[in-house]
Amino acid sequence: MTTPERADLWAPDLRALDELERENKGCHACPLRAGCLQVVVSDGNPAADLLIIGEGPGGDEDRTGRPFVGRAGQLLDRILAGVGLERHDTYITNIVKCRPPANRAPTPPEIQTCTELWLDRQLALLRPKVIVTMGNTPTRHLLGTAQGITRLRGQWHPYRLPSGAMAALMPMFHPAYLLRNDTRVKGGPKSLTWADIQEVAGVLRGERPFPVPATPPEGQSPLF
Ligand code: SF4
Repeated sequence: MTTPERADLWAPDLRALDELERENKGCHACPLRAGCLQVVVSDGNPAADLLIIGEGPGGDEDRTGRPFVGRAGQLLDRILAGVGLERHDTYITNIVKCRPPANRAPTPPEIQTCTELWLDRQLALLRPKVIVTMGNTPTRHLLGTAQGITRLRGQWHPYRLPSGAMAALMPMFHPAYLLRNDTRVKGGPKSLTWADIQEVAGVLRGERPFPVPATPPEGQSPLF
């Protein structure tokens, strides 16, 4: 599945990422930091092929310093386990790294400040092959669209990394949404999510063809 060029384009810079994460933990660049206990940077394995991006930390995440550890995070673990994946097979982070007050959605200025400082640089260093965005906020930000998750989920979207490689991006429902819509009917959010994660696992394992072009078309700049 992987050509030598693609392997180079996707090789993570783990040392630089470690430095970036340490720097990130000391960030006070936007007002969110004043209302939370700590900066929640990431969990999982930075060398994993799969990057999962959520919206922002909640109360449990703020207390523990790890993303996706509350009820929604436990459901995410079960979704991953359903296709034989563990946290160690993923790198998990959020669009904003500090808990918004009362778990509200982050504002556009907060998203812009945090992603320019941190997520964009994480993406440049992680170079994931597959990205899963959970819910509207990360999906809209990365795809640059106002469309909603219900329309965008279940389809692969090409996402150009700063290295020039094209990652395959799959939007999925946020686990918190699944907790609020806890029905197992066919065509419901949970059954659609089951189909989506099976698709993601199939691509990660090479059982399905890589769903987007590996590199930008000839003559296209490899930069954003
Ligand atoms: S949300 Fe992001 S930009 Fe704002 S203080 Fe936290 S880490 Fe810094």
